[in-house]
Order: sequence, then C-alpha cells, then structure tokens
Amino acid sequence: MRPTLATVQLDAIVHNYHVAERLTPASQNIAVIKANAYGHGMVKVAQALESSVPAFAVAFMDEAIQLREAGISRPILVMQGASHASDIAEAAANDFWLMHHDQQQTDWVLSAKSSGPVTVWLKVDTGMHRLGLEPALLDQICAELLTSPNVRQEVVMCTHLACAADLDSPMTGQQVKTLRSCAGQYKLALSIANSAGILCWPESHAEWNRPGYMLYGNDPTRSIDGDSFGLIPAMTMQSEVVAIRYLEPGDGVGYGLDWVAKRPSKIGTIAIGYGDGYPRHAPSGTPVLVNGQRVPLVGRVSMDSITVDLTELENAETGDPVELWGRGLSVNEVASAAGTIGYEILASLTGRAPLVYSS
Ligand SMILES: *Cc1c(COP(=O)(O)O)cnc(C)c1O
Repeated sequence: MRPTLATVQLDAIVHNYHVAERLTPASQNIAVIKANAYGHGMVKVAQALESSVPAFAVAFMDEAIQLREAGISRPILVMQGASHASDIAEAAANDFWLMHHDQQQTDWVLSAKSSGPVTVWLKVDTGMHRLGLEPALLDQICAELLTSPNVRQEVVMCTHLACAADLDSPMTGQQVKTLRSCAGQYKLALSIANSAGILCWPESHAEWNRPGYMLYGNDPTRSIDGDSFGLIPAMTMQSEVVAIRYLEPGDGVGYGLDWVAKRPSKIGTIAIGYGDGYPRHAPSGTPVLVNGQRVPLVGRVSMDSITVDLTELENAETGDPVELWGRGLSVNEVASAAGTIGYEILASLTGRAPLVYSS
C-alpha cells in the first residue's frame, strides 16, 4: 500500500474545541466544519464533537443535509443561508439555522408556507463588503422578522471579521463597535468571532462564537510554529522516501530541471505531490521533515512526488518516514513558504491520500 496518508487525531480536535471554550467562558461556541471540516472529514469530526458542542456550522445547505443523512442531530448553522425559497421549509424541518445576508433571503422567510418557524441569523456588513445586510436596512428587516410567525424568536445578529488575523489592524475594533450599535436597540444575541477573534480579540467574544481553523490545531495569526494557546495540530500528512539519487554539481532535478546541484548532493524522492494536495507552488527551500529532521524541498512539485535535499542526512535511506505537515511542522509554515494559507492547503486535499483516524 502507498505510504502516503493523513492521520487525523480526533481527540486533538475535541481538545482544541475546549481551548476555545476556555478562552470564552461567557460564550457558546459553534464548531465550524465546512469544506469537509477543513479537509479532516466532516462526518467523522462532527461525530467526535457532537457531545461537546451546542451546534455545528457549514457554509451551504448541501453540507448540512449530508450531516443529517449521516445521523448528526445537533442544530446546524448554514452560513450562506437559503439559496432557494424552498430551502426555508427544509431548514425549518431539519433544525438548520439560516444565516441570511440579503433582502431576498429574508423575503423568502417571511413568505414561506412553512412547516413551522425557522431560526434566522441576520448577517450585517460591518466593513468586509462581501456578504451582509447594510446597517441602514436593518430597521425595516428587523421590524418584519421579529414579528413574523415564520421566525423562531431567537434571532442572532452576526458579522464576520475581515482583519482579525492582523493583530495591529484597527478594523476589528471598529467592526465590533458597529455590530454592537446595530444590535443594541433590539437586544439580540450576537456572534462575531472566528478563530482569530477567539484567540486574540476578547472584545469580539459574544453569545455565540464560530471557531473553525483553530479546532484543527492551527493558529491563524501565526505563520511559524510556537506555543499557540496549547492547540494541537490534528492532522499529520505523512509519507516515505521512495528513492535516493546522488547528483554531481550541475545536475538538475525534476520538471524543467529548475533546481541545480551546486555540490555533490543526495536527493530523496517522496511519494506525495499536488495530486494529493501538496501545494504545487511550494518553492525550493520549503521545509519537509525526514526522520524528524528539517530538509529543504528542491525542484518543482510534481503530481505524484516531490524531491528534497538529503545531503546533510547521511543516514537517510528509502523507507524513511516523512512528515509534510503536522505536529512537527506547522501547516502554516508550509503554506507561508508556498505563498498561501494553511486553510487552503487543508481545504484542497484531494482525497487520494486517505484520512486515517485515531481517537
Ligand atoms: C469559515 C467561517 C468561520 C470560521 O473561520 P475560522 O477562521 O476558520 O475560524 C466563521 N464564520 C464564518 C461566516 C465563516 O465563513
């Protein structure tokens, strides 16, 4: 069997959820498990967390339906809300909470011939300018929704932070202030914080928080490892050295022979590539762990393999264990070398390297 796989430690995800709870004692935390739980396997992660969390969050109705079909019974917040008028009745029947960001979605709720009231979260655009109701529209929408028999009267007002991973930005404080002033007169519960808000912006903590990335053991505010609130990376992407080559100075490696040996070099080939989700743009120098030691990637990332410089590791041989990211090497650091973010690496896993669970 191919030695390339992602081990996922479900216990670590539960531990990381408790870190979020510990940092926000006055909040309830909804576990965000969209995009296949950031590549960790949505149903497995939901099963592991279900007894600890009040609710889950996904982006789309289809993801929520998939969770119900797998037997998950907690409420599920659908963060892009309804896409069709018919989604309202389906949400009401399945205890999906709809995060609504525009007038059309709220009109569907008001006019639904529903099987019962639906839970609505109102998303306000406090400055990200992506999704959300303009504050000026709120008076009218609240007047309608807060008196409608189609709406369960636990409406939550929410927003999404644009710059929370930038600890110097004044934007987060401004967004929190704007939302609080929008909600004040209606005395609604609030939801603002994502992972970065939970970790670094106490003023963003509210009745409900929405941690995602941190649950998987990664701190979105750091590109290099460090003590990040005791978070434990849940996934280790691992493989093996499958071949070794000895190069003379001037010999090139991989497509385009982009990397050229400057000294007699020992090159290891590892059985993972962009066909598995290893970032294709990772340049020479991106760290890889072989036998627990850092070595640099050299040459281009191929679909099925990468090459690393093992010249400093005299004893390295085929069959040696490799970690691409995980506890020993933060996915944030690999992402930063590749010009992306850990979120993208995790969400882009292709499934060719299987997920193997340990509790
Ligand atoms: C994805 C998402 C989150 C979670 O963000 P993290 O940075 O992963 O914690 C929270 N809220 C909304 C609206 C999202 O789309």
